[in-house]
Amino acid sequence: MGNGAKAQQKRERNSKAPPAKGSKSQLKVNEAAKNIVCTTCRQPFMITTRQPALEQHAQNKHSKTLADCFPDFKP
Ligand SMILES: [Zn+2]
Repeated sequence: MGNGAKAQQKRERNSKAPPAKGSKSQLKVNEAAKNIVCTTCRQPFMITTRQPALEQHAQNKHSKTLADCFPDFKP
């Protein structure tokens, strides 16, 4: 856990309504599903990122192919 977890705790303490049980872990799952992550440098991309942009990242940053950096990406 890094700074993100601390900020999350702060927000929860400041908010008047208590967060729903399990909302935090659910958020984590949702975030993981939302993001495309480069397996080479761990840079996250929005799920809406287009294939050419990911291809460009793989080629320009790593001289690799889309499949090398984003094996889970399905066009
Ligand atoms: Zn990368």
